[in-house]
Amino acid sequence: MSTETPTAKLRIGSKWMDSGAANASTPVFNPSTGEIIAKTPVGSVSDVDAAVAAAGDALPEWAETPVVERARVMFAYRELIARHFEELARLVTREHGKTYGEARAEVQRGLEMVEFACSVPVMLSGDTFPQIAESVDGETNRHPVGVCVGITPYNFPHMVPLWMFPIAITCGNTFVLKPSEKVPLSAIRLVELLIQAGLPDGVLNLIHGGKEVVDALLQHRGVAAVSFVGSTSVAKHVYQVGTAAGKRVQAAGGAKNHLIIMPDADVDQSSKALAASAFGCAGQRCMAGSVAIAVGSAAEPLLDQLVGFAGNLKVAPTDNNDAAEMGPVISADHRDRVAGYLATAERAGAKVVLDGRQVDAGDAFLLGPSVVDQVTTDMPLWKEEIFGPVLSVVRADSLQEALAIGKSCPFGNGASIFTSDGYAAREFKRHFNAGMIGINVGVPAPMAWLPFTGWNQSFFGDLHIQGTEGVHFYTRQKMTLTRWFESSSESHHDPVWKSK
Ligand code: NAD
Repeated sequence: MSTETPTAKLRIGSKWMDSGAANASTPVFNPSTGEIIAKTPVGSVSDVDAAVAAAGDALPEWAETPVVERARVMFAYRELIARHFEELARLVTREHGKTYGEARAEVQRGLEMVEFACSVPVMLSGDTFPQIAESVDGETNRHPVGVCVGITPYNFPHMVPLWMFPIAITCGNTFVLKPSEKVPLSAIRLVELLIQAGLPDGVLNLIHGGKEVVDALLQHRGVAAVSFVGSTSVAKHVYQVGTAAGKRVQAAGGAKNHLIIMPDADVDQSSKALAASAFGCAGQRCMAGSVAIAVGSAAEPLLDQLVGFAGNLKVAPTDNNDAAEMGPVISADHRDRVAGYLATAERAGAKVVLDGRQVDAGDAFLLGPSVVDQVTTDMPLWKEEIFGPVLSVVRADSLQEALAIGKSCPFGNGASIFTSDGYAAREFKRHFNAGMIGINVGVPAPMAWLPFTGWNQSFFGDLHIQGTEGVHFYTRQKMTLTRWFESSSESHHDPVWKSK
């Protein structure tokens, strides 16, 4: 590793600094070139202690800052993100590998999260119950929970951190962000811009690292709440360890999203939507369509169009190449892992009808789109999250069979149906075993104002990320009963419990 390669900095309190961990680091690649563009320190427990202490010190004053002033910082932040839109999108492309168009869409979604956070003052209003008992008024209001932590994955380096800290901070909490060690650069830029927007020191802190750092955060006495997004095994671990340590935890995990194509679906529209869903961001989306269930006669025309369409996608390095329609995956290891699933499925009898392994990759971590037909529910290709540009096609005789396949899937993020029949759409909407549903929509990912309602092994916790549930996660309610005596009154009985 070159000595000139920059090492990702930490932001603790008022300072950018190096990690307390001695020299150990992990590489950050540009997936389009295979070059190492930065190093991420592995981090240390002392980094965690320092960041949580800085967030704890900043908490009392920030929690008492009027909510309109807190929101005003978010309005300024929104303007800065809009002004730096292109730079932020280019950075996502550089450290993640998604196309410039996909990166722009990601930055747009992140911007909308900040716009949503600007509306937090309205969302902190409580309920009032005047005269709920004689001379007694009742009310509820929302208070910040304390120091919050965000642990984020590699696949949305810009958007997923923005799912968390803008809402948490505007609600009056302070925050420690621990981004994925594979993509620390977007997170650093986001923190820089929020400081530029006027956020007081210590309200947002940034540290780096892997398991050791995450485990120290989960068990730290100074932490009140943890938001996590990543794979199911780590999400489960974060939920179990965090809740055992008394924290509030929301942990979003992996996925296996099914797209059902009915025989009456518009073949052209649905095959294009399927290709975009399965191969957008090279399949590295928790809402990517990874299984197509072709019902009855839908299979043949769909496969024809889909293979033709996906086979024509321009698969290429994305850095400084806006013509690329599909980019690389995050690492060489991940590319090989995804290719391994194709080989296993072939040995088990599935048919690779479009083979993404045949791509001219150079030094990029490229894999073309693959479509695998005749996949069955006993194959790892169906059972496990692949998180790459592979679409499995399972054949079913009826919608009921498709619903039963969904029921046996351990995950439960998203699912979509393509049909022109309202009854089939309604049956699917009511009964498919997933928390986010699309009807003739390829990627039913909710926008900022709606909660990200994963089910089953795709989410651990009670209150989801985004939307009103996000605001509720970062606040706790207080209920107050108020009674004022008339100065001349002689009655001092308890107005709630008094006997008639
Ligand atoms: P990951 O689970 O490997 O890492 C996520 C975070 O956890 C990172 O910050 C990482 O440093 C940390 N981490 C990794 N291993 C750990 C361990 N053993 N103990 C403690 N912390 C650990 O996930 P990833 O590969 O970065 O991201 C891809 C995954 O994220 C996919 O499974 C995808 O479906 C999921 N994801 C889910 C959603 C959702 O909303 N459900 C959204 C985006 C991504």
